[in-house]
Amino acid sequence: MGQFKYVTNRTLQNKAGELKGKIRVLVKADSDTAEVDYVCPECENGEHAEQEWKKPFSIKCSKCGGAIKLRKLKDEIKKDKKKR
Ligand SMILES: [Zn+2]
Repeated sequence: MGQFKYVTNRTLQNKAGELKGKIRVLVKADSDTAEVDYVCPECENGEHAEQEWKKPFSIKCSKCGGAIKLRKLKDEIKKDKKKR
């Protein structure tokens, strides 16, 4: 992964199950700060934010206050293996 220790790019479902949001998280190799770009799936507010990196990671939408969560890493790894 080079200069990043964690990178993800995902689409997000809202409570109605529609894929309206997305999130990108970057954590530099020498940092514990996550750089986040998201579009909230509930209110479609787009924003850039920085927050302490920890797992499980979640961030609060600054507009509607909804929690945006990343799913467990294990699930993601399993999915990646199936693709190959
Ligand atoms: Zn929102």
